[in-house]
Amino acid sequence: MKACLQMLLSATFLFGSATSFGWGAPGHQTVGSIADSLLVGTHAAKAVKKILGTEKLKTAALWADCAKGVTEKPPLKYVVNTRYTECKPFETATGKAQMVAFVTRNLSACNPSPGDESCHRQYHYADVAIQHDTYTRSEIGTSDHDIVSAINAAIAVLQGSTSPSPISFKSKSEALRVLAHYVGDIHQPLHVGAIYLDASGHDVNPDTGTYDPATKTQGGNKILDQGKDFHTAEWDAIPANLTAAEFKTGVAQAKLVPPTAGPITAWAAAWASDTVLASHTAFSGLTFGAENTSNGTWPVTEPTGYSATKASLQETQLIKAGARLAQVLQAIFH
Ligand SMILES: [Zn+2]
Repeated sequence: MKACLQMLLSATFLFGSATSFGWGAPGHQTVGSIADSLLVGTHAAKAVKKILGTEKLKTAALWADCAKGVTEKPPLKYVVNTRYTECKPFETATGKAQMVAFVTRNLSACNPSPGDESCHRQYHYADVAIQHDTYTRSEIGTSDHDIVSAINAAIAVLQGSTSPSPISFKSKSEALRVLAHYVGDIHQPLHVGAIYLDASGHDVNPDTGTYDPATKTQGGNKILDQGKDFHTAEWDAIPANLTAAEFKTGVAQAKLVPPTAGPITAWAAAWASDTVLASHTAFSGLTFGAENTSNGTWPVTEPTGYSATKASLQETQLIKAGARLAQVLQAIFH
């Protein structure tokens, strides 16, 4: 599923192989596992068990990325990729049919613009310019099928309502699986905050003057850090000490995360705003070179100490994600 960069940037972008993942599988497992622990003994844990059976949130949180293994040209089918062993629990006949059904319903109803990904792939992120301090639905990089809209749709289905068009989540199990994933992704700084660059590598604000789609960095996927995709290599990957098996202090720290204020319908936007601020840290001190016009990428240079800053921010964000996944499920299933 992880295509080479050329493939990523080719004209087959929309129907090509998978592009970026949110947190990689280990990050999503950390988030799901923190929520699993926080929910032990609650009404929400019982409700989750009723919907998912023996499947824990730690596993359910991977489903939305595994569904990217469904081909996007007819006839749609799920293709096993042995690199993604974490998808194995979903690769039964029934499991594959569920992923194909999900992708079929969520492929093109959002009318992707040329060069944009299919709808369900867009549910994993927003691209709010780092000049902003909050997520607001009128900004460039937000939509009725971005990560905030997708989280709200999943919450609606879990509350017994239907998902608003163009998003189509049909069952509570589908909604719970995608919610467990998107709440992780909405805390990945590059899944909400985005930098827009001109051809010289200077940052521009897409919300002032006339927006030029050529300034889009695709969530950092078009930024190259020593030849590597900045989004995936730098931010989706997490240090070993933050994996579910090793992050022993994660649950205790998650218990200290304050509840989100306001009505549940406003939580996703509030989390996105919080992540916009986190993205300011993620982009701080980076310098960009001029665009490589042969493939539409920009080179980036990191400031000294960037790895430590990044690891610390990743830890904070994973903790918030685990805590807020538990919070939203307790609010739905109180
Ligand atoms: Zn994702």
